[in-house]
Amino acid sequence: MINDHYRQFGGMNEVPKKDPYSGEDMAPIRNAAARIMRSLVMKFTLLTGALIFATTIMLMTLEGFSVQRETRNLLVDRSVATLEAVATRLSSNIATSDVEFVDGYLDELVSTMEHGELYVLNNRREVLGEAYHDARTTLDRTTDALAIMALGAGDLRHSVDGTTVEIAVPVYTQNRRLVGVIYARQNLVQLTQTLSSMIKRQALIALFALGVFLPLAALIVRRALQPVRELTSAARLASSKNLDMRINIKSGDELEVLANAFNRMFARLDGNLKRIHRLAYVDLVTELPNRERFRKEAERVTRQALDENGEGAVLFLDLDRFKRVNDSLGIGEGDRLLEMVARRLSEVARGCDLANDRVTDPSLVARLGGDEFTVLLPKIDGESDAARVAKKLVDAIKLPFEISGHQVHLGVSIGIAVFPQDGADPETLLRHADLAMAHVKRAGGSSAHFFEPAMNHSAFERLVLENELRDAVLKDQLVVYYQPKVTMDDSTVAGAEALVRWQHPTAGLLAPGAFITAAEECGLIVEMGDWVLRAACKEAARWRSLGKEYPVAVNVSAMQFEREGFAASVLDALEDAGLPPHLLELELTESIAMKDPERVISQVQPLRDRGVSFAIDDFGTGHSSLAYLTRMPFDVFKIDQSFVRDMTTDPHARIVVETILAMAESLKLKTVAEGVETAEQMTLLRAQGATLAQGFYFGRPMSASDFVEYTERSDRDRAAG
Ligand code: C2E
Ligand code: MG
Ligand code: MG
Repeated sequence: MINDHYRQFGGMNEVPKKDPYSGEDMAPIRNAAARIMRSLVMKFTLLTGALIFATTIMLMTLEGFSVQRETRNLLVDRSVATLEAVATRLSSNIATSDVEFVDGYLDELVSTMEHGELYVLNNRREVLGEAYHDARTTLDRTTDALAIMALGAGDLRHSVDGTTVEIAVPVYTQNRRLVGVIYARQNLVQLTQTLSSMIKRQALIALFALGVFLPLAALIVRRALQPVRELTSAARLASSKNLDMRINIKSGDELEVLANAFNRMFARLDGNLKRIHRLAYVDLVTELPNRERFRKEAERVTRQALDENGEGAVLFLDLDRFKRVNDSLGIGEGDRLLEMVARRLSEVARGCDLANDRVTDPSLVARLGGDEFTVLLPKIDGESDAARVAKKLVDAIKLPFEISGHQVHLGVSIGIAVFPQDGADPETLLRHADLAMAHVKRAGGSSAHFFEPAMNHSAFERLVLENELRDAVLKDQLVVYYQPKVTMDDSTVAGAEALVRWQHPTAGLLAPGAFITAAEECGLIVEMGDWVLRAACKEAARWRSLGKEYPVAVNVSAMQFEREGFAASVLDALEDAGLPPHLLELELTESIAMKDPERVISQVQPLRDRGVSFAIDDFGTGHSSLAYLTRMPFDVFKIDQSFVRDMTTDPHARIVVETILAMAESLKLKTVAEGVETAEQMTLLRAQGATLAQGFYFGRPMSASDFVEYTERSDRDRAAG
């Protein structure tokens, strides 16, 4: 009701009601008053007050009635006695019908009464005298029932009506002869007065009772309702999710029973809530906060950072080699390993917090799923802070883990996104940190890298590229170009290198630089490499059928080479094409060749035994171990084009070329100088004793048919001398 009232009169356009004197807003006072009026204490107090008041009034009224009755009886008795005395006094006068005396006597008598009327009848019902105070009643004295009845019966009659009493007293002479009747009607003024003073007194007593008992009642009700207040505030606390409390009511009544029921309910709710919370926000394998909890916390701290102009960071962690370890350990042990990783990450993060005295804003380590974790640093002083924490995490994970008596070596790749500049919401920050992490993974892992806007761009482009590349393989958009290799001394064609091209539907002919890395990253390189190998073998077989026995060189990528069954697939390609193995040369880059020399030897040897030759591509750019080089089953060094390009201008490059050539000579290997573009380079290389040359100077990579034409032209030129 009160609320309705406020709504009605306190609408949007209403000026708030002000105190006319102080000018202060009165709404709070009114609200407080309304609240008090609605409170149970007030209701019970008012009820008690009303009961006290009603009870007092009822008791007083009952008491009043009995007092009134007694007073009236007393007054009637007194009037009867007076009238009987008058009857005795006037009996002889009445018997003699002494009208004068009787009338005079009555006049005198009436003057002593405050309100009243008197008359006397003789036994013949004749009025002997009458007297009245204010005005005479209209009743017919000779037939008035009461007086006639008293006269007829010879005894006293009276009737009381409210405060008016009528008495008729028969008059007897001394010898008991009935001679008449005296009638008196009297207003009992005293009774009225008694009544009004009694009402006044009763009201006073009732008010007094109210004054004394009402505060007392309020006090008692307040005390009695204290547990209800406690229950209310407990329920209010519970609704604000604080269920970890108990109500202590020892009143021994229903409220104590209710409080105990509340406590049991809170305890159960608390347990359930904690269970739900755990399921919703905790990762059950590692006991770390999960993705959802991380998202919420990140949302809070990024908002805070924006408000306070602060800086923080999200670190995206992905374990290196975890999958391999997990596969070999089994799921149970894998989970244990994750648990150990989680503990180590938490310890490192906590250590960083303490070092920086950031206990109030601790970092949060969460598990996103699989082998992915995040660390949220709510406050950093510049990027170096985040980099320092990331480095510590990388170092910590590098240390071996002891599991089931084995030492397990892991690594972690960390991408860092700093907020607010790299994103202001958890999703963006995670995405960016993830991109930076992928960058670390590509570069070999076990390190950390900050997000750069270019990564966003390249990630999208790469996605498009990968999808298109898949199409390229399926839709036969790949073509093989051939670049001639010539002999140093007379520049006759001595073979060709097969170089893949992509006939892109919209972008035109693409060189490998535009797509090889993407193909390697999405694994398509295996399929692609196999396709190139088969195409090149077929082409070389075709040259052979034309009477040109040129060996063809095919590039092999690391993934392709490391795959089980590589040797078999090469032999298969040769057989399918009908090409003798000695007409195939496989090029491995120096980094592949030196990554795991023992394994390379075991992979290469069977093919080499069949006659396939091997070349180390881009030689000079990697870190070859001399010890292994001497044992490696290779046939050709391909001198990287950067040395060839610079050898005419840079003495260091020339020394590298000289050294490679000398080394090849002592190891009895052939050499191919790549990227020969000028006659000067050619002269120098020839002087230094390189075996073959390959470069724009002789011919760019060209289509298969162009290459055949090229060889024919070259043959013609040679024949012409
Ligand atoms: P690479 O094996 O070192 O191939 C030689 C690269 O040098 C070719 O680039 C060729 O066009 C270029 N080149 C040759 N002579 C000259 C010259 O005189 N000057 C200059 N500036 N460059 C010259 P291309 O065709 O763009 O291939 C680049 C790389 O892509 C190759 O380097 C090779 O590592 C890779 N590649 C090409 N085809 C394949 C393939 O089928 N499979 C794999 N795995 N890799 C391939
Ligand atoms: Mg090559
Ligand atoms: Mg090369």
